[in-house]
Parts: sequence; C-alpha cells; structure tokens
Amino acid sequence: MSVLTDLIYGGSNAVAGLTEGAVKDAIAKYGPDHPVAFPDTAYYFPTIYAATGVKVKTLGDLPACVEVLKSLITGQEDLGQALNAGLATAVGAEIIEGLKWAAGGDPYAQDSGIGFVPDPVIRSLGVPLVTGDIPGVAVVLGKAEDPADVVKVVKDYQSKGLLTFLVGDVIEQCLEGGVKAGLEYRVVPLGHDVTSVIHVVTVAIRAALIFGNVQPGDLAGLLEYTKKRVPAFVNTFGPIDAVVVSAGAGAIALGFPVVVDIDLGSEQVPGALESVCDHSQTVAKSLELREIKIKVTELPIPVAFAAAFEGEIIRKADMHNECWSSKNPTAELVVMRELSEVEDHKITIIGPDLDQAKDLALVTFVEVAGKKMQVDFESVIERKFHAWFNYMEGVMHTGQRNQVRVRVSNAAFDAGLRIRDFAEVLYVMVKNEFDAVVDKCQVTIITDPAQAETFRDQMAMPRYTQRDDRLASMTDESVDRYYTCILCQSFAPAHCCVVTPERLGLCGAVSWLDAKATNELDPNGPCQPIFKEGCIDERTGRFESVDKMVKEATHGAVEKVTLYSILEDPMTSCGCFECICGIEPMSNGFIVVNREYKGMTPAGMTFGELASCTGGGVQTPGYMGHGRHFISSKKFIAAEGGIERIVWMPKELKDDVGERLNATAQALYGIENFTDYVADETITTDCEELLNWLTEKGHPVLAMEPLM
Ligand code: SF4
Ligand code: ZN
Repeated sequence: MSVLTDLIYGGSNAVAGLTEGAVKDAIAKYGPDHPVAFPDTAYYFPTIYAATGVKVKTLGDLPACVEVLKSLITGQEDLGQALNAGLATAVGAEIIEGLKWAAGGDPYAQDSGIGFVPDPVIRSLGVPLVTGDIPGVAVVLGKAEDPADVVKVVKDYQSKGLLTFLVGDVIEQCLEGGVKAGLEYRVVPLGHDVTSVIHVVTVAIRAALIFGNVQPGDLAGLLEYTKKRVPAFVNTFGPIDAVVVSAGAGAIALGFPVVVDIDLGSEQVPGALESVCDHSQTVAKSLELREIKIKVTELPIPVAFAAAFEGEIIRKADMHNECWSSKNPTAELVVMRELSEVEDHKITIIGPDLDQAKDLALVTFVEVAGKKMQVDFESVIERKFHAWFNYMEGVMHTGQRNQVRVRVSNAAFDAGLRIRDFAEVLYVMVKNEFDAVVDKCQVTIITDPAQAETFRDQMAMPRYTQRDDRLASMTDESVDRYYTCILCQSFAPAHCCVVTPERLGLCGAVSWLDAKATNELDPNGPCQPIFKEGCIDERTGRFESVDKMVKEATHGAVEKVTLYSILEDPMTSCGCFECICGIEPMSNGFIVVNREYKGMTPAGMTFGELASCTGGGVQTPGYMGHGRHFISSKKFIAAEGGIERIVWMPKELKDDVGERLNATAQALYGIENFTDYVADETITTDCEELLNWLTEKGHPVLAMEPLM
C-alpha cells in the first residue's frame, strides 16, 4: 500500500475510534434523548445532513452515523476509496465538535477561535463571493516552523481579499505576528483542535444547501457543487500526522486542493495534493491550483489598500484625525461634466492637511466626464466612496452625502498618509471601476471649514435634493425597462433577480440604478434589460417579457414570475437575502425577519430556519427573500394587500425602516404611525399572544380577506 493511502486510512480509523468513544461517553453521561445541535443553523449536523439526509437532533441519533462513517473506510488500495475515508474523517470531526455543544454553553468561549460559523454569516458572504470581492477561501492549518512565514502568507491572502480560516497554532503565530483577525478582516481563527477544521468544511457544505439547492442526501451533487463553486483550498504548515492527512483527503474529496510544506515526493497527487517547501511560493501555487484570479490595484499611497480592511474600526485612542459632520461641514459629491470641463487626474486640495489640524472639514468632490456617462450614475459612483475609503488600511469611513465621518489612525498617519492620497485613491478607483463610462476624472478635496460649508450648502445639498426628487418620481410605471441580475448564479445556478425601481435586488446591494449602470459598464454582463411588454396581470405584476427573460436567464428552471406577489409565482431567492418575509397563518399576515436577528419569531422558526424554507433559486410560495429597502415600497407584497399585512418584525428592523414604512402606509391607506400596529420581540414571539395583541390594537389585517 502507498504511504499516502496508508496514512489516510490510519488517520480515518483513529478518528473513527475517537468518535465512537466520544459518542458512547456522551450517551452514558447525558442519555440518548439529550438534544445536541450547533448554534444558529437550520442544517443540523451539516455534513451528515447534506451527505445522508439524516437530521441529528439528539445524542441517540449519533451511533447510526458512526456506523455510516465506519462503512466509508474500506481500507482498499485505491485513491477514490481513500478519499471517501477522508470524508469519514470529516463526519467524525463534525460529531466530535458537535458533542462539545452537548454540555450547553459556548465551548469556544475560552478559545481564540470562533468554532462554528452561523448560517447568517454564510448568507452575508454570498454577495462578496459572487462579485469576486472575496476571490477565494484559504484554510491555513498547523504550526509554521518559522512563524514569520505563515504571517506573510496570511497577510498576502488578506491583501488580496481572500477569506482565510486558521486552525491550530498558526492562530497564535498570526496574532503575535500582527495579523489583524476577525471576520471584518477576513482572517477567521477557527480553533486549535484539528477537528475544528470541520467548521470551514460545513461553510462550504451549507453553501451548497443554502444557495445551490442541493438536496440533503445527494452526496454526488454535494461534491460536485463544492468542487465547482466553492473556491477553497488548504495550506498546511509543519509536520502532518495521519489525522491531518485524512482530513486533507476529505478536503480533496470536496474538491479543495491541499498544499503542504513538506516534501511528499512521489506521493503528490498533481492538482490535488502538492508540496511547496518554499513559502514564498505557497500563495501563488495555491491560487493557481484553484484557478483564483486576483485583480490588483496599484495605488501610489503609503498604506495597504484592500477590501480586507473594509470593516476595520479605529478607536479614539488610535485616532490621529477625524473629519465628522457633527464637528465640521462634510459632503461627498460626484457631478457629471462636459468632456471639455474636466482635466483628467487634476487634483486640488483646499485647506489644511492631516499634519496641520486634528479635526478637519471634508468635502470630497469628484467631477467626471465621458461620452457614455449619465447623470443617473453620479450616485452609483458616489456610493462607492464609502468602500474605497475603508479599503485604505488605517482609514475608517461611515455615512454618506453630508453626513460623513472619517477617521485616520496614528499608524496610517505615521506611515505618511495625507489628504492627497484620498484624492489619488478616488481618481484611480473611479477610472478603474467605471472605465466604460468615465473618460476623465478630477478630484477636489476641501478641508477648510468655511469653504466646505459653502460647498455643502450651495453645491451639494441642492444636488442631493434634485436626485431625491428624481428617485421619488421613479416608479415601476414610469420606466420602460427593468433589469435581470444573475450575479448570484455562480452559487445559485437557477436564481435570477428582477430589479425594478420600486424593488431592489434581494441582497440589498443592487438598485435599479445600479443594475442600469452595471448594464452600461458591461453590456454582456449580469444585468440585462427587460423591456416592459405584454402585461398579463397588473395585480401580481406579471409580464410576458419578464417571464421570457427569467426563463432564459435561469436556463428554463423558472418559467413564470410575478413582481408583487409572495403567494403566486414569487421571485426566487438565492440565499443572500437581507430579510425574509413569511406567512403567519394565525393572523393572516406576514412577518418580516432580518438576517441579524437571532431570536425566535411567531412563526415558530428563527431567521435561519425560515430562510432554509427558501433559497437555491427555487420559488417557495409563502416565503420570499428580499432587501431591507423593499419593505417600505408600495409594491411590497402588493398582490396580497401590501404592507398592511405586516404583523411582526424584529425591533431593530422596525426602527430602521419605520419612518419610510409609516410614510408609505399613510400614503396608501391613510394609516398614521403604522408601526404602532406591528409587533416585535419585545411584545411577543408567540403566535397566540400575537393575535391577541393585534386584536387589542385593531391591526388592519384582521379586517382583510383570508390569505388562503
Ligand atoms: Fe444576487 Fe440578486 Fe443581489 Fe444580483 S441583485 S447580487 S442576483 S441577490
Ligand atoms: Zn444572492
């Protein structure tokens, strides 16, 4: 037998033995009826559920899983069989990790790793993964002989925007080496036991269930999905034992190449298992094996510039400068000009620099010109400022328009970052990302308070008002076309969003204007116009042209779709929706739940459980994913009676959309303060209590036609 298969079987058998023992011990201690579950997931023990369809709920469900696991370890001298044994190791690792939750509490509370990754986090990763904003997922495992090597590799992945999971001693090595860690930095410590690697494996597996509509029990479909659509790979550092090798075999079975830093000689499996002993080559080789392409942006600034720094928080103690609308005038504005009016790459700074004042005013004014530029794209470009500022390491940006707050860290200042660098970033990024419409771009930054105030009041504010008026007048009726968006098809192959002025994409990131701009920038890209033709049903919003385009875009998977109904041919959901709306039968109403809400709902399900009822590009009447902004739209479930049907929302969501929701309810039905009739978790999460409360309040839904 080859050394490799020998090691795999050795590791798998060892894990099988450990798993069997651990299950027996747990049952002896707690009894077979004791519940066991990972936190905040609707997919039970995800590996077992996806591979076999078995829903593990109690300890008593586990012995049968152990038998399945053992049956996967055939001991035959065959690479395919050995890879199956690797899957057995994955199942074993899942059980061993899952048992850590049997005692109650958070077993990872004392660990520097996070352990299990909850469903909502996976959903939130959907859009950055499909847009290539996160180009890949790296799993870095083990203990580097020289810590500096792993630090360099991980920082390199971070600067390229990859999402990196750390397992084992590399966690401390990276933290001590100054790697900024946390989901917001795209470097996520998982745990120290090698079994904790399962927590990234189940991310890939749940992606298949959430986005890919892979059916539980369809092992072949699962493996094909992860291989084709999850751009992950593994790097091990330091010596590897049999257990690591068999876990690696599991990764390879899922389609994730493994790069080790010891010399495997003839035991290498080209494309799947390769040795790279020179760490300066690890990153390049890994990306090549997984065919991950990185967009590089060369910027002449003294700090790093990468999407991985988007979530960086700069606290007061680390802060060198602040530009904040509460202290000084701020404004951000993009204006379209004639070609002759713009001098390309002209940069003008008016006022003090970061070394001359601590608190500054900040006007960021970008003038663009181009033959294909349209006034409508001004706001699309302007909205990107937020991300671009945040991509600079040591810069934090919140807000937009005249309500902006920018902080610069001491470290960034010491590195030499100055106002001019902001301007350079804006210039390069506008020209990069909007090259199809912007031929010339000039940037003016004003930090002088008096001049900033004049600019804000006389130049920016009137422009914002103009835009708002245009947006408000833009309805589904007032335009001649809608747009498809199929970006999420890389994860949800049968999914297509139809984006209209009054209904943004369900991820919340694609408005009608965005879709229009995307189409202009990339005419053969993910957003295609649907000319509004052949209205079949005005009430539900069904059009011949929409049906036709959606059918084409989904390769026949979806034949009919309505724009305004949740019960009749509703739009499909991919999985990365911001909110889910679901039927609440007792009251004849609907509840709306946002991804961030962790508690129970009157439907008897959490967000994750509700969300698992839909997704994968499937139509599920009664349930629908959608963007936050859609809730206050006049078109929200209009076919079923509209927002008057909303009976319950988490408080945070209600507060967030309340003002706009109330305005819509006032305009549509003449109801004052509609949100006063909508319950939340501080009122009840029980459906009977909800009905009593609604009755007491006189919620309008109680007078409406039954839904079914
Ligand atoms: Fe995905 Fe729809 Fe958002 Fe496009 S609009 S990125 S398809 S969720
Ligand atoms: Zn999506």
